[in-house]
Amino acid sequence: MLSAERELRLQNDIHDYLEVRDSIKTGLERQEEIAKNRDRILAFFGADLKDWYDYRWQLKHRITDAETLSKLMPLSKKQAAEIDEVGLKYRYAISPYYLSLIDSNNPECPVARQSIPMIDELDSAGETDPMDEENSSPVPGVTRRYPDRLIIKVTNQCGMYCRFCQRRRLIGEQDVHSNSEKIKKAIEYVRDHEEIRDVLITGGDAFMLSDQAIDNLLADLRSIKHVEIIRFGTRTPVTLPQRITPELVSILKKYHPVYVNTHFNSPAEISDESKAACERLADAGIPLGNQMVLLNGVNNKPHIVKKLNQSLLSIRVKPYYIFHPKAIRGTSHFWCSIEEGLDVMESLRGYTSGMAIPTYIVNGTGGLGKTPLLPNYLLYIGRDKAVFRNWEGQIFEIENRNRSKQP
Ligand code: SF4
Repeated sequence: MLSAERELRLQNDIHDYLEVRDSIKTGLERQEEIAKNRDRILAFFGADLKDWYDYRWQLKHRITDAETLSKLMPLSKKQAAEIDEVGLKYRYAISPYYLSLIDSNNPECPVARQSIPMIDELDSAGETDPMDEENSSPVPGVTRRYPDRLIIKVTNQCGMYCRFCQRRRLIGEQDVHSNSEKIKKAIEYVRDHEEIRDVLITGGDAFMLSDQAIDNLLADLRSIKHVEIIRFGTRTPVTLPQRITPELVSILKKYHPVYVNTHFNSPAEISDESKAACERLADAGIPLGNQMVLLNGVNNKPHIVKKLNQSLLSIRVKPYYIFHPKAIRGTSHFWCSIEEGLDVMESLRGYTSGMAIPTYIVNGTGGLGKTPLLPNYLLYIGRDKAVFRNWEGQIFEIENRNRSKQP
């Protein structure tokens, strides 16, 4: 039976989170305000709800200049001038939907921070390609770093251009999909390499391809016997959920097993519309994972990540990775320390369901691959015992012996 003392201790363990939980709002908890923003944006464009739910309308009406932006949200003259200055170097485009999630009353709004250019982007620290993606490519459009899997990049287009993007060097002024010849060569490469059992289709954003192009690509990959699973990397459930149409979903489900990894970074990004998009995918039997990037000023606080991960599970998305931010030029204002990442991990284990705990990853520079990081729970390992601390800091030990008889 649970002792009263133990029960009190468990309640105390969660007390600090419960105190702040309701102040960290998801989009679901701000839905009224988001709907008002949506109606204001629609009125500005002279459009209606039918347009809003059409992803092509959303793409066509992405906001790409400070003048339009200043008509849709409060911007100081200085801010507008800085946005224009940054825009000369780094492209930006914000979908009307993503703009509707911004809380203009919050100067630290995590949605604004991820979508609106800041003058800090002109800081020259960092590199354009620290992961050496360019040199991990056996044929154009393919990145290969591991024995049994690879990435096919099918487009440089995205629903929105995120300010922290690690692939910002590839985001040109023009949206271009990889041409059919390039995609054909990538598929040939997979066909010629029997050890490839897992193909990740990404970009840019994989769901920027047309339904027909996705259907063709999946049919080609499924014709290769050794391809066991196909994964998509897409941020559209977050930035352009209208793209997850019933038609797209019915194409994806023809080619199971198909997995989708998406990219929520903040509880504020979980809205009615993103929830519905994730549910459409999940209802089609597509397992959903979330790859969060640890970002200064967005989610580098333990309670924010806890709320994000618990909310993701409630919309049927499993937190999969937390990526330590890469040293990409133009993103230094988002960088965090390893200690901050470890603090986040420490605050999850034991304090919330294991399902809500992703793997914290540092990407090896120069293309050395994903390296997992955990707070240190193993205090000592010797020939006959190992000593640990648990999530609450209590110490215990277990035997460390192999009792099977050696031949
Ligand atoms: S959707 Fe992904 S690839 Fe596109 S800008 Fe955002 S982070 Fe970069």
